[in-house]
Amino acid sequence: MSKRIVVAKFGGTSVADAVQFRKIREIVESNPERRFIVVSAPGKRYPDDIKVTDLLLTCYEKAAAGQSFAAEFEQIRQRFRAIIDGLKIDFPLDSELETLRNSLLTEPMRDYTASRGEYLTARIMSKYLSFTFVDPAWCVCFDQDGQLNAPMTSRTMRASLLPLNRAVIAGFYGADMIGTIRTFERGGSDITGSLAACAVSADLYENWTDVSGLYAADPRIVENPETVSYMSYRELRTLSYMGASVLHSDAVLSASELEIPINIRNTNKPEDPGTMIVRHLPKGVTKNPVTGVSGRKGMSLIQIEKVMVSDGSGFSALMLDILKERALPFEYCLTGIDSITLVIRTELLAPCKEDLFDEIRETLNPDFISLRDNLSLIAVTGEKATESSDANVRVLEKLTEEGIEISTINQGAGKLNLLIGVPEDRYEDAIKAIYAFRQSHQAS
Ligand code: ASP
Repeated sequence: MSKRIVVAKFGGTSVADAVQFRKIREIVESNPERRFIVVSAPGKRYPDDIKVTDLLLTCYEKAAAGQSFAAEFEQIRQRFRAIIDGLKIDFPLDSELETLRNSLLTEPMRDYTASRGEYLTARIMSKYLSFTFVDPAWCVCFDQDGQLNAPMTSRTMRASLLPLNRAVIAGFYGADMIGTIRTFERGGSDITGSLAACAVSADLYENWTDVSGLYAADPRIVENPETVSYMSYRELRTLSYMGASVLHSDAVLSASELEIPINIRNTNKPEDPGTMIVRHLPKGVTKNPVTGVSGRKGMSLIQIEKVMVSDGSGFSALMLDILKERALPFEYCLTGIDSITLVIRTELLAPCKEDLFDEIRETLNPDFISLRDNLSLIAVTGEKATESSDANVRVLEKLTEEGIEISTINQGAGKLNLLIGVPEDRYEDAIKAIYAFRQSHQAS
């Protein structure tokens, strides 16, 4: 047996039907290091399709409201039946579904119901691959308040998985101390994959999905953007925070703590190398100063002016205390000699704006407060920006050349990323301009 261990997680589109299951078998069999397989529930086969988890949740909601859930239940049955028949395997689907139906009729439980998509998928996959089935109810441990108990999960998962040669683990759920099923947030099978990778000290965590890695820019704005071959965990977190989504952020956090590389791969194009997410770039890999660009619309910019904000009297600290008291998160805060600039999501600010401004006036007695809505915030991410110190300056030049107003700029000393505020109606133009700048660096 090979000593290297790869944990491979397959997302909803990768297990959407029997054809996808076959692709997975080829992928798994092509590398014996892929010993632990984590699966989601069947996702969408085409844009208007319904994910099995959504069907299950509708069953739960209807059952809890005392309504009939027969139509959705039948759709779930048909999806699994088609997979089982397509793979030509024996599986006791009807008795499994009967258990679920009984629970819905007697005592509907949201998390238990939602988890059955992953449970059935993993059981079917383990049968199809002839791998051992591991139910995360035995080894993904939640506390009574529904929070993951990470240390206990790590120990229990390690003890459950390592003695096994090969196993399929259902994603998305676990159980608390009294055995009640608990789920993660939506998209949480990524977290299960990452927990398994950490528990067995995997050499690699593969996350198989339906794209060949993380795009350097949003494909809805830039036509055919390049996929990034290498990026750091920090870069991924920044890009994801600002809207690029391919992996659950908690999954990145736990893998990065143990420095387990994550490889985003495409089940439909297994020949593509995908994106490698690592702590440090391997030697010899050269990187564009701009790894990627992402952003969000719907931002508000607040400017609070007071002579000598920065004189040590605690003005900024008081301002942040006000936000903390209100549990109002901010995207960034910049302090200058005579002013503080805050960027806050408009949807969070709007309901409390008047109140907040009154409190700021009373507590801080500022000279002036101004508010500007309809802004977008763009993150230009690149750990290598430091080595090409003029890159950030040239990004700004590029925006100016395009006639795009730069409303605010924030660059921390770490230079990991540059945050730029631009008017919302120029958001797409700005992303395109920055991506074009990135591509012009390709050859260097
Ligand atoms: N099946 C769950 C969902 O649809 C979890 C996952 O796919 O990761 O959110």
